[in-house]
Amino acid sequence: MRTRFVAGNWKMNKTGEETRVLVAEMLPELSAIKGADKAVCPPAPYLMSLANLLAGSGVGLGAQNMHWEASGAFTGEIAPKMVAEFCQYVILGHSERRAYFGETDEMVNKKVKAALAVGLTPIMCVGETLDENEAGQTAAVVSRQTKGGLAGLTPEEAVKIVVAYEPVWAIGTGRAATSQQAQDVHANVVRKSLADLFGKDAAEAIRIQYGGSVNAKNAAELFGMPDIDGALVGGASLKAPDFIAIVKAAAG
Ligand code: PEP
Repeated sequence: MRTRFVAGNWKMNKTGEETRVLVAEMLPELSAIKGADKAVCPPAPYLMSLANLLAGSGVGLGAQNMHWEASGAFTGEIAPKMVAEFCQYVILGHSERRAYFGETDEMVNKKVKAALAVGLTPIMCVGETLDENEAGQTAAVVSRQTKGGLAGLTPEEAVKIVVAYEPVWAIGTGRAATSQQAQDVHANVVRKSLADLFGKDAAEAIRIQYGGSVNAKNAAELFGMPDIDGALVGGASLKAPDFIAIVKAAAG
């Protein structure tokens, strides 16, 4: 059985003080929820202070990106070991990084391997744009991203990762995929690609989150689907009651 996992992607939002207030608002209820894994992913400057606040709470911490190199002349970048000092998770290959910062499947693949090498759990994002969706290319794009991002991993490594299927047309639009649409891609494209790469047993063990306009109202229906193993949540993760409700829905 896969334990559902909900992660909040705060993107480039909130001041340091606001992040601490938000964590303080969420923490008592979140840490009391058993039966689902949960994490928050704040902007990088706040990882250290939030790591202290979250220590021992059962609420994980994730970064939103990192470089694949261990150290060196990469001005403005953050190395895997720097993230691993504070975090358990790292979001990699988010569609905003692919669209605005030129991240390719090859770069995502290097990052996934670098994250695993320092003991981080990568949350690797895949998903088609609206144009690709309307052109009937969803399966081809999502399978290419899944296989490209995870190329060269062993099944033993692969079971440690999390994949987030995030259709770009659903992110921040208020227009979530229906639970059936998401289930179809999770089962027939993502999990099938994982089985092609790593075999059926490993594929069955890997958690596949859905992301894209998940909120307190639609979460339970999404989580009712057999291959939707949690969510990567953007906007709704910035409001304590909404994020708590989504994690509660995941706990069932
Ligand atoms: C995201 O960007 O990862 C995301 C899912 O955003 P939202 O929930 O706001 O659609």
